[in-house]
Amino acid sequence: MRKTAVVLIALFLSATPAFAKVKVVATLQWIGSVAGEIGKGQVEVATLVKPNQDPHMVEARPSMILAARKADILMYNGLDLEIGYLPVLIESSRNPNIQPGKPGNFDCSHFVTVMEKPVSVDRSMGDVHPLGNPHYHYSPGRILSVAEGMADALSTIDPSHADAYKANLSIFREKVRAKQKEWSALPTKGRRFIAYHKLFEYLAADFGFTITAYVEPKPGIPPSAGYIERLIGTIRETRPDGILLTPYYGRREADFLTRRTGVPTIVVPHDVGAVPGANDWFSFMDQALSALVK
Ligand SMILES: [Zn+2]
Repeated sequence: MRKTAVVLIALFLSATPAFAKVKVVATLQWIGSVAGEIGKGQVEVATLVKPNQDPHMVEARPSMILAARKADILMYNGLDLEIGYLPVLIESSRNPNIQPGKPGNFDCSHFVTVMEKPVSVDRSMGDVHPLGNPHYHYSPGRILSVAEGMADALSTIDPSHADAYKANLSIFREKVRAKQKEWSALPTKGRRFIAYHKLFEYLAADFGFTITAYVEPKPGIPPSAGYIERLIGTIRETRPDGILLTPYYGRREADFLTRRTGVPTIVVPHDVGAVPGANDWFSFMDQALSALVK
């Protein structure tokens, strides 16, 4: 009898902290990674988009709706990167916590300065960056701002652990600053690249290199044969250091350009988990920057 009671009490005690955890649902891997750094043991993070998916081309799946239904907070990239699935996901979840305007609806882009912000929104011709460049997760300063926003949002939802979120943020901030020093010492400055997609603008701005041309004529628009021929001319004239692409898209076109021009292709991860060893946001950045200087 006594043994059973002890077991029951032990079960109850071990179940309590898990029960109290804040359920974070993140769309992208990097968001889940940063949320994990700020929430640590107080949160349970579920991530919707797999690291081998093109973030522009994701569709809503029933498993995503189930995850969103249980969320205390939904964290997403914003700038319409998730336009293909997020509005339907939020609506179908019928979860009052994550509806627009609620503390559980967390748009990471609200905390960053956006590059290539258009004067007027134009979705014509299929441009997938209608609100500006959404790929700010390569910018350490911006990630720090997002992390600050996350600490505030988690403290609003879970005030009893506000001190823990603040402490985790301080640790994260120190780590980012130390890494920024290390990354700035890499010889990225002055390099010139061609890129498949307009993915690396923030990385280029922060680390002093330039993207001189794109394989896509517009973000999300595949190149025509004529466009590729003109690009070959540009590459032969300008001799960039490499053609940047991600592990999951642009391979065929980039390989063709390499065969025709001799300029090497360089695979750069587009998110946490996209290449071996990119297990969190820090190692993702390590991998991205080391690929550029190899
Ligand atoms: Zn894009």
